[in-house]
Amino acid sequence: MRKVVSIDGTWLKGKYNGVLLVASAQDENYHQYHLAWGIVDVECTSSWSWFLTKLLKVVPDEDELVIISDMHQGIINAVSTVYRNAHHGHCTWHLSQNMKTRCKKKGATKMFFYKRNEFDIAYNEFRNRYPEAAQYLDERDSLDRLTRAYCPKTRYNIMMTNGVESINARLLEERKLPIIALLDSLQKLASSWFARYRHASIASNTNLTPTIEGILRSMFTDAQGMQVFELRRLEFDVRSRGHSAIMDLESKRCTCRVFDIDRIPCAHAIAASWLAKIDLYEMCSEYYSTMSWCMAYSETVYPVPEENEWPSNINFPLVLPPLLEKGVGRRKQNRIPSIGEFSKR
Ligand SMILES: [Zn+2]
Repeated sequence: MRKVVSIDGTWLKGKYNGVLLVASAQDENYHQYHLAWGIVDVECTSSWSWFLTKLLKVVPDEDELVIISDMHQGIINAVSTVYRNAHHGHCTWHLSQNMKTRCKKKGATKMFFYKRNEFDIAYNEFRNRYPEAAQYLDERDSLDRLTRAYCPKTRYNIMMTNGVESINARLLEERKLPIIALLDSLQKLASSWFARYRHASIASNTNLTPTIEGILRSMFTDAQGMQVFELRRLEFDVRSRGHSAIMDLESKRCTCRVFDIDRIPCAHAIAASWLAKIDLYEMCSEYYSTMSWCMAYSETVYPVPEENEWPSNINFPLVLPPLLEKGVGRRKQNRIPSIGEFSKR
């Protein structure tokens, strides 16, 4: 699986509040693939450090890894301590929300450029229009965190953290449940996703996953009108509508940078591969193969067994409810009356 992990937190709505932390990757067919959940009292450096230390057991800290999150200082501190080798990039959706609330400006979300010169032009224009917003970003972050054009590692198409949103959409009521019941719901959700995508991946009869096949087909259309000139063996000048791109099929790099970053052949690569008689599927990253997709869902997510089936030699620590500050106002939620209250009626 592509080594880009997004991490995010969402408030729980139960009696003890708390925050659900989620780490997810993106599967070979561009769906969210949840790697870990954790429940903490609040988002801060120590809670994120605890969560990331646990995550480290399944996602090793390595040079190729990119972690994406919002700009929460607790996350920034924890990632820099626990994942020292990974690159930490920021979620563009959260960035846009920050711009709206702090600087009352829109337009800072255009971080999707592949080419640095195109990003520079757009960013300078943004800087001229909204100098205080640009200053806010300059003081907090470097460009390699904000945009994939300057990201030193491969970030692929992954610009936002969507893991929490997919859980929020599916578990609206469950977020009000006590922790154990919530974790059971998360397990059921993961099991159902695994079952659905296991069926879908086994039923797929194409070399690449359906989403990537669709992207390649749209690139085919763009590639048909292009002119290709050989510069040297496996290097081509590919021209279209007055634009030129230099495509190197050997290193799988193109000056448009789409092939370099997404690892899916761009239209220039497709046009050049037709001339060079190279199989397109060989140029596409193994991360998008149907075989890899099948492997992602080959395991099973089992429910936790009944308590009487647990090993007897485990010493469980006593976990007390967190200390809570009482909120202002009355709880709006209806509750079930106790037996004593019933008898008074
Ligand atoms: Zn290209």
